[in-house]
Amino acid sequence: MTKALALFSGGLDSILAARVVAAQGIEVLAVKFVTPFFHYDLLADVAGYRREVREKYGLEVVVEDISEGYLELLHHPRHGFGRHFNPCIDCKIMMLQRAKEMMAEVGASFLVTGEVLGQRPMSQRRDTLNVIGRDSGSRSILLRPLSAKLLPETDPEQQGLVDRSRLLDFSGRGRSRQIALAGEFGIRDFPSPAGGCILADPILSRRLERLYGGQLALPIADITVADVRLLLVGRQFVLPGGGWLVVGRVEAENDRLLGLAAADDAVLRIQERPGPIAIIRRAARCYPDPAALTADLDLAASLVARYARKIDGRPRAGEIIITLAGSERHVAAAPAVDEDFAGWML
Ligand code: SF4
Repeated sequence: MTKALALFSGGLDSILAARVVAAQGIEVLAVKFVTPFFHYDLLADVAGYRREVREKYGLEVVVEDISEGYLELLHHPRHGFGRHFNPCIDCKIMMLQRAKEMMAEVGASFLVTGEVLGQRPMSQRRDTLNVIGRDSGSRSILLRPLSAKLLPETDPEQQGLVDRSRLLDFSGRGRSRQIALAGEFGIRDFPSPAGGCILADPILSRRLERLYGGQLALPIADITVADVRLLLVGRQFVLPGGGWLVVGRVEAENDRLLGLAAADDAVLRIQERPGPIAIIRRAARCYPDPAALTADLDLAASLVARYARKIDGRPRAGEIIITLAGSERHVAAAPAVDEDFAGWML
């Protein structure tokens, strides 16, 4: 039986593309790529996700973590960024390259994507689709079933593995034909088109741009998955000495911060009343000047006091415990004044 490997974002187009091919009696395996920028939480319950996709869309899916190469890609995407910090063209090229490598492992003869000609201004223009096919080395084996009739024939069509006459000619931004087709497949519950990728989020992508731009006291050559995860938690600040401070807002975030804290981070907490966990990332390594480190730690302590439980409706001073490089020190901190730190927010 012919087998195809389908890139699966989870959006309607990717669902339909896989189902259109499967409707020809071809076995389709969907692959869902994850990175800390999109869909990373799926890794916590891969079996549950596979079950959900099977039940909702009738598709078998595997989850592939491509974080490592992706962290690297963001330093210099060859085709640049979209409106935000989203390197969509290189992102698709990378996924296709990885999918192409997987073909032999899973016994697939060709690749499938849900791209629709002209649907997105940058990444789905005809010339861009060509570039994606060319630079991923998959042009001849890459079938885009939703727009296939508007595109040159691919190998699987020429070889008779796929019946071109049963493929589609969707183009443009409208969604009505997709929604009608979903109805024919009995698919009613599908996610909205946008969403899920923080690289295209106006606010979070700005934070990432600063991280990758070297604006936080952190060597950009070794940005880790945990760094990106950390960037999405709680209140974020860049302190005057350059330190990257993250402050939990609720207990769940405090737990998350403790889970993401590394040995070279400074961890701060308040002694006598409920309050946030705060960490200064890589504090033990990233301050060439010890005085700047001390000043940032003191400011961080004042922010912990500010965000700790108020007394009589007002922020109060408190004793803050700072753990750094295996040693612990206690400082008495007055609460920071909001106007003073407004400019430090990331
Ligand atoms: S929106 Fe995000 S996941 Fe989608 S192609 Fe662009 S960078 Fe990749």
